[in-house]
Amino acid sequence: MFDFHVHTYYSDDCSIDMESYIAPAIAKGLNGICFTDHVDLEYPNDEVHFQFDYKKYLNEIEKLKDKYAGKLEILVGIEFGMQPHIIESDQSFFLDKHFDYVLGSIHTAARKELYNADFSQSGSEGKMILDYFHDMIYCVENFKCYNNLGHLDAISRYVPRGSFAAAKHMDYIEEVLRIIIKEGKGIELNTSGKRYGLPDFHPEPSILRLYKNLGGEIITLGSDSHNPSTLANEFTEAAALLQSCGFSYYSIFRKGKAEFIKL
Ligand SMILES: [Zn+2]
Ligand SMILES: [Zn+2]
Repeated sequence: MFDFHVHTYYSDDCSIDMESYIAPAIAKGLNGICFTDHVDLEYPNDEVHFQFDYKKYLNEIEKLKDKYAGKLEILVGIEFGMQPHIIESDQSFFLDKHFDYVLGSIHTAARKELYNADFSQSGSEGKMILDYFHDMIYCVENFKCYNNLGHLDAISRYVPRGSFAAAKHMDYIEEVLRIIIKEGKGIELNTSGKRYGLPDFHPEPSILRLYKNLGGEIITLGSDSHNPSTLANEFTEAAALLQSCGFSYYSIFRKGKAEFIKL
């Protein structure tokens, strides 16, 4: 299998070097991994810096590709934080860069950080949830440079437990999914939800089923690892869940093109 969501020391919230993932990935029997380090332009917290040196990143991955050729496929990706007010500068970021895979994620809501969310600043968690989906709808429709949308319902990690119920927001979620399908993009099944103590992966099964029923086909599997110990975490269970939701294939990306692999 392929793990399409892996962070390294190129992400400001991770200190693990790239090569540390290779032996564990091979030991777990993976066919490949895609590094997806964070770039969040204008991230609303000055203490973190979600940007990295693209050339250095590419060079390091190229060296690993050569060294481990035939043992593990290594792909070049990015997890890109999408925000409505910077869609245009976001698009220019990609003019001189090439990735196998761009995972577009929402890490902010109305220019406020979700991580350590300050609800007194936003008004309430209800307002923050609505801001989150408004931003998401705008970005999946107007941002053209992503392949898949990351951890669709990850807002559930950041609001007090129990205050997010996908069923209450299904109109927004359906709109997001319809746009993604129309745009020829996809989503990811991100297995980190359970590591955060949530009952499900991201997104939860009702959203996976809706995506499938609306005609969605493109879905990557990602562990969102910030440490090799969680590589491909619960992928067997994730694959079984996809099958139970009606999917026969999961996706990988090479040079920005989706390819389908039987589950
Ligand atoms: Zn993310
Ligand atoms: Zn991530």
